[in-house]
Amino acid sequence: MAEETIFSKIIRREIPADILYQDELVTAFRDIFPKAPLHILIVPNHLIATANDVKASDELALGRMVTVAAKLAAEAGIAEDGYRLIMNCNSHGGQEVYHIHMHLLGGAPLGPMLSQRL
Ligand code: AMP
Repeated sequence: MAEETIFSKIIRREIPADILYQDELVTAFRDIFPKAPLHILIVPNHLIATANDVKASDELALGRMVTVAAKLAAEAGIAEDGYRLIMNCNSHGGQEVYHIHMHLLGGAPLGPMLSQRL
C-alpha cells in the first residue's frame, strides 16, 4: 500500500498550494520550485505512486491529466509555441514525490530533452 505524500494534502486543500484546476479526477497546481516560466503539476486525485503502479482502471484519470495539461497550456497562451509534459518514475527517472504527476513546462524554449548525453 503506497503512503500518502504532500500532494494528497494539497488535493484535499489541507495545505496551501496555487491550485489552477480541480475536478473529480485530477488536480493541477503550480510547482513550488518552477523550472520554467510556466511549471504546473497535474496529479490524479487518488494515490498512484509511480508509472509502474498504473492500472487499467486509472486510464480515465491519466487521460484527463493530458487534456487538462492541454487546456492549461492554451489558457496560459503557450499552446502554439509548445511545451513539455514529463512524468518521472523512480530513482533513475528522478522522481522525488511518490504520487504520480505530470509536469507541464513551458513559456520559453526548453532546450534539449536531457541535459546530458549518455
Ligand atoms: P518529481 O521529481 O518528478 O517527483 O517532481 C516533484 C515536484 O514536486 C518538484 O518539481 C517539486 O518542486 C514539486 N513540489 C514538491 N513539493 C511541492 C509543493 N508543496 N507544492 C508544489 N510543488 C511541490
